[in-house]
Amino acid sequence: SLKTSKYRTAVNISIGCDKKCTYCIVPATRGEEISIPIEMLVTQIQRDVDNGAVEVMLLGQNVNSYGRRFSDGRPKSTFTKLLQEISKIEKLKRIRFTSPHPLHMGDEFLDEFVINPKISKCIHMPLQSGSTSVLKAMKRGYTKEWFLNRAKKLKDAVPELRITTDIIVGFPGETHEDFLDTMDVVNQVKFDQIFNFKYSPRPNTAALELKDIEIEDKVAGARLTELIELHKEHQSELLAKNVGKTMEVFFEDLKSNGEVAGLSDNSLLVFATGSDELLGKFVNVKIISSTRTALKGEVIK
Ligand code: SF4
Repeated sequence: SLKTSKYRTAVNISIGCDKKCTYCIVPATRGEEISIPIEMLVTQIQRDVDNGAVEVMLLGQNVNSYGRRFSDGRPKSTFTKLLQEISKIEKLKRIRFTSPHPLHMGDEFLDEFVINPKISKCIHMPLQSGSTSVLKAMKRGYTKEWFLNRAKKLKDAVPELRITTDIIVGFPGETHEDFLDTMDVVNQVKFDQIFNFKYSPRPNTAALELKDIEIEDKVAGARLTELIELHKEHQSELLAKNVGKTMEVFFEDLKSNGEVAGLSDNSLLVFATGSDELLGKFVNVKIISSTRTALKGEVIK
């Protein structure tokens, strides 16, 4: 599958998490956040690139707080610095990362994201809730306005940008107005993909203390359905906008029906008629049609 391609490698850049999001199990199960030294990461990625990888996925609970603490006590660094160093690996073509935290999306990081051509223009921005008061109860550390401001800054600078997100509906105490704030953010940002969840209490999480204000399952379920419907409309609309455009696709997979499949720089799934000669290559493709989840195109010779 496209997920386990030989053209792709993944590295953990940090372990643990210093945040204390109240719905999350990580603070109770993992230790404090420790970053892996830059030169170790560069060496590992360079080795994978020498073996044929063109893309790296940088992994961590909170990737953009990278560099705050190293196991050997060396001075602090930043995620921006790490991105710059990794970009110097010549044959590495694409850099992706997950998950970044909206709170740490300062200008320095966003500017690097915009100007660095190796960074995939698909970013995960886990919203969780569009309501500032719910965000506070979740201990997320940002407001609705901050999130919207960061998303707008990126969208204005990068026309082809795609944004994916995580949303929890029905967090304890979530009012109808709070939910409308979430829908408002979804309407303004128009996410390309939403991983949505209905809140459910989990052991060893701080949100268990909010048991008295948990909301009815029926109510949470209805909100989730409403969110999913809105998102489906956005998905079709956003994908249809690509028809007629030309984009560079890296083909990785030959289907049994005589089609090849690959991803564009901003992580769109693209199919085209073609043979294994196209595999492992960046190819220009003109998009001729779209569904809700993928595009179909013709290879430009
Ligand atoms: Fe850390 Fe993410 Fe869990 Fe928050 S949700 S505590 S940022 S791992």
